[in-house]
Amino acid sequence: GHKSLSVDLGDRSYDILIGTTVLAAAGKLMQPLLKSDRVIIVTDENVAALHLARLERALDDAGLHYQSIAVAPGDTSKSLDQLGRLIDQLLAAKVERSTTILALGGGVIGDLAGFAAAVTLRGLDFIQIPTSLLAQVDSSVGGKTGINSRHGKNLIGAFYQPRLVLADTSILTTLPRREMLAGYAEVVKYGLIQDAAFFTWLESHGADLIEGDRPALERAVLTSCRCKAEVVAADEREGGRRALLNLGHTFGHALEAETGYGGELLHGEAVAVGMVMAFDLSVQRGHCPPEDADRLRRHLAAVGLPTGFADLPQRHWDAERLLDHMGRDKKVNQGRINFVLARGIGEAYIESDVKTEEVMALLTSAI
Ligand code: NAD
Ligand code: ZN
Repeated sequence: GHKSLSVDLGDRSYDILIGTTVLAAAGKLMQPLLKSDRVIIVTDENVAALHLARLERALDDAGLHYQSIAVAPGDTSKSLDQLGRLIDQLLAAKVERSTTILALGGGVIGDLAGFAAAVTLRGLDFIQIPTSLLAQVDSSVGGKTGINSRHGKNLIGAFYQPRLVLADTSILTTLPRREMLAGYAEVVKYGLIQDAAFFTWLESHGADLIEGDRPALERAVLTSCRCKAEVVAADEREGGRRALLNLGHTFGHALEAETGYGGELLHGEAVAVGMVMAFDLSVQRGHCPPEDADRLRRHLAAVGLPTGFADLPQRHWDAERLLDHMGRDKKVNQGRINFVLARGIGEAYIESDVKTEEVMALLTSAI
């Protein structure tokens, strides 16, 4: 069996199915939702080599017709060029309005294939089959799809909800450890936002989960998806509560922008450091007990995630430049930055009144 939860968005509501048998049963699980018996799988070459055959077998079991398209792995595939090629391949394969796109891969494939689905023939149904921990707990849920521009990450895209999310936790056994850890940072984030009991549970089960302990993984994916689904259902397009999901991301994006998305620093690694900085800033403002910031730092360090500049790739970090990146991170107005801060573990809130001088002071002491 598997666990199931739903993202409640009226007539665009969809289910997330989580478990270790979901991939093997994928064809039968999706069949009731399909408009025809034809699907097209979009995946990357790494995932294709490891898991595509299993998905194809599951589709055979349900008597479905499929074709597969594999793109190069990595964020460089989230480009206008690659999007153009993909849409062209879909059209050359004579997709019809009734064809469903299956996104089999990490966040890159979910974002790229989801966006291609959103715009091809003005909208094809699509199903997310996330294969990285990050994709299972974050990017496959919530309906953000898109690609990068030379002006920055994720600047071209659409809100486009999948029809179904199939998260098979056994797929994660082949994920490189560093990718697993990076995804784990987002898992920790959900505990920090609104679930102190989950954070406490992670303190004792996080290390096992990263090693691939299946019951622990299943519970963590379920709890994370439930948190994201709740927040997204309350606020699909990010005005209020959805912004809480950006905990650690204002600092994190600045670190990523500075290192240049070349794999030197993974998103989740940047977010880990960013969450610590958000807690430090909360402590500095007198809103959060220092013990909570220490607890966060200890836990991240215990599982092997970076917690500060000393753990990051060596370079000349410059506080001004980082602040500059935060400015471009669209959350600044008139010398004040929108930040997700915390009153403690499990109690994140949005603060629109953080002054750039406070952030400078924190960065300068942290570097
Ligand atoms: P990714 O898709 O590049 O996957 C990471 C690496 O792991 C790739 O090399 C991939 O080939 C490999 N991989 C994936 N699954 C595997 C498996 N089961 N076994 C072995 N290897 C596997 O990156 P990601 O971390 O999954 O996602 C990052 C992307 O997600 C970024 O582009 C980011 O912008 C996006 N994102 C989107 C949202 C959203 O809401 N749409 C949220 C967060 C992140
Ligand atoms: Zn993130």
